[in-house]
Order: sequence, then C-alpha cells, then structure tokens
Amino acid sequence: MKAIQITETGGPEVLRLQDVPTPTPSPDEVLVEVRVAGVNYIDTYYREGVYHASLPFVPGLEGTGRVLHDPRGEIAEGTVVAWCDAFGSYAEQVCVPRDRLVAVPEEISPEVAGTMLLQGMTAHFLTHGVHDLQEGDSCLITAGAGGVGLLATQMAAAKGARVFSVVSTDEKEQLALEAGAAEVFRYSDNLAEVVRRRNGGMGVDVVYDGVGRDTFAESLEAVRPRGTVCLFGAASGPVEPFDPQLLNTHGSIFLTRPSLGAWTAGEGEFRLRAQAVTQAIVDGTLNFRISGSYPLAEAEQAHRDLQGRKTTGSIVLRVAD
Ligand code: NDP
Repeated sequence: MKAIQITETGGPEVLRLQDVPTPTPSPDEVLVEVRVAGVNYIDTYYREGVYHASLPFVPGLEGTGRVLHDPRGEIAEGTVVAWCDAFGSYAEQVCVPRDRLVAVPEEISPEVAGTMLLQGMTAHFLTHGVHDLQEGDSCLITAGAGGVGLLATQMAAAKGARVFSVVSTDEKEQLALEAGAAEVFRYSDNLAEVVRRRNGGMGVDVVYDGVGRDTFAESLEAVRPRGTVCLFGAASGPVEPFDPQLLNTHGSIFLTRPSLGAWTAGEGEFRLRAQAVTQAIVDGTLNFRISGSYPLAEAEQAHRDLQGRKTTGSIVLRVAD
C-alpha cells in the first residue's frame, strides 16, 4: 500500500510517499481503509523527533474511512468510522484500536470526520475538563484561529464565557470573532496588560496556551490570582525550564500541561467526549473550518503550511476519493 513513511526525522521534506507493507490488526484492533487523514500539530513533533517514534514510521494519528476487517467480527465490513489514536494514519490502510473509533453519522462529511476527533475532543477537555468554564468566566486562547483554537472558542462562547483570542493576521482575527471571541488581539510583549484592561482590570480565569515558548511568560501574567494556566502545546517551541516560585508571585496560580490521552483515559470518557463533538457537529452548534485539503502525496506541503502559520482551522490529507 501507499503511505507517507519517515526514515529520518527532520523538516517537512522527510515526508515521502512510499510503498510499505499492509498492516495486520491485533485482536484489539480493526483494519481500516483510510479515506481522509487529519493533519495535527503533534504530527510535526513526531516528524522532527521532538516526540519519539522508532524509525522508520508512518506518521498521523487520526482519520476516517471504511472498516476492512475486524478480527473479532464485531464491526461490519464497510462501516464508516473515525478515529484519533491510530499511529500510521497517513496511509491507505491503518490498524485502529477498537476502543478509539466511533461510527460516523451520515450528516458529517469525510473532510470533517477525518479531523473532528483529535482537535474536537481536545477543545472539549480544555473547556469542559481542565477548567470547566461557567457562564461569566473569562479565558484567553492563543492561536485562536487554529484547529483547536476555533473549536475551543466556539465551545467556550457556548458556555457563556468571555473569550479573548490571540492571532497573527486580520483574516484570523475575523475568523476568531465569527467563532465567538469577544475580543481579538495580536501577540505582543504587553499582551497581558491589554487583556487585563479589557477584562475590568482583572486577569482571566484561565489561559489556554497552545503556542508555548513565545507566549508562556505573558500567559502567566494574564491569569488572575488562583487562576489556571493550561499549557497544552508548543507550536512555537517548548517552554524553557522555569522557577515554580513564579506561580507564587503571580498569585498562587495553577499550571497544568494536559494531554488528550490522559483526558480520555477515564471509564467511558473517550465515548463521552467523542459523542459530544459528533453530536454538536450534527446539531450545527460546532463548525469545522477546513482550510486545506491536500492529496496524501502532498503531506510535505501540508506540514509546511501548518508550521508556516498559513492555515486556519483544520487541514486534511485526501487518501482516497
Ligand atoms: P493550529 O491549527 O493551531 O496551528 C498552530 C498555530 O499556532 C498557527 O496557525 C499559529 O497561529 C500559531 N503559532 C504561534 N506561533 C507559532 C510559531 N512560531 N510557529 C507556528 N505556529 C505558531 O494547530 P493545532 O490545532 O493542530 O494545534 C494547536 C496546539 O494544540 C499545538 O500546540 C498542539 O500541539 C496542541 N495540541 C495539544 C493537544 C494535547 O493533548 N495537549 C492535542 C491537540 C493539539 P497564529 O498565526 O494565529 O499565531
């Protein structure tokens, strides 16, 4: 089968289309024919070697497609499913852990199904878990027009929270506003001061920071005493080691570095979050913006665009039509 295979870690140029053996599912897995694969920032961490995987490997974690074979015979061949935790998804076929897939309602398009779970469930655990936003809460979301950013903005606004968003361009500002942000700012050294000024002189209840190195210092400044800084990613690079005493001087603030894995590990938690996301899409209360749909062979360009800050919302790879 065709797949993007990485034989050495590095820049986007290491994403090459190759012929690789078809995988064989274990009893805990289901073999799936991939139609669309989601492209996520975490895929760039594996590609660069920031996150470790044994070489050679096929990157990608999520997608949608049809079940080809269930060794246990529980899921019918041809069932349309989506998943978010199947390493090797940039491929024509992949083995998906059976407890990490959901059936796709027919109202959801393949492009959306291929990218809805990883970013959607992340936005869900941020806004309903790490800090379960309440009506009247305030939050700051960095990269507010990105994949997770636009979804977290919609979910936070739907809960009645006041969303402050940070983006890099006018187009992204417009998208963040349409998603429900109350105010949108540009990155700056006095971001926290600007946010406070617009939030009645107070820091926000929670900062959701997926940018990392470039924004972390301002995130600590922007939160209220006893508020939460949720560092959930590192699009600009990992945060440098720092003195925990800073959490004290900023007013006994909480810092967490959560993962989707930990926030879907509880009994029934994966199903609950997946169901919340798919139901919201079907109901029309959660909109996915797919700003790029690339053929599988152009995974390199997809990564260049993602890391070059050229994308908005989500992007996908078309594996089969
Ligand atoms: P995005 O679509 O948000 O793309 C990244 C965005 O980050 C860019 O569009 C850009 O928006 C912003 N950015 C700021 N500085 C930089 C920089 N120096 N280089 C590149 N981009 C920059 O990606 P995702 O939605 O896939 O992921 C967002 C974040 O969420 C990532 O950090 C990812 O690792 C994290 N994540 C964490 C999960 C978890 O379980 N903890 C799960 C899923 C995602 P702008 O131009 O507006 O600044």
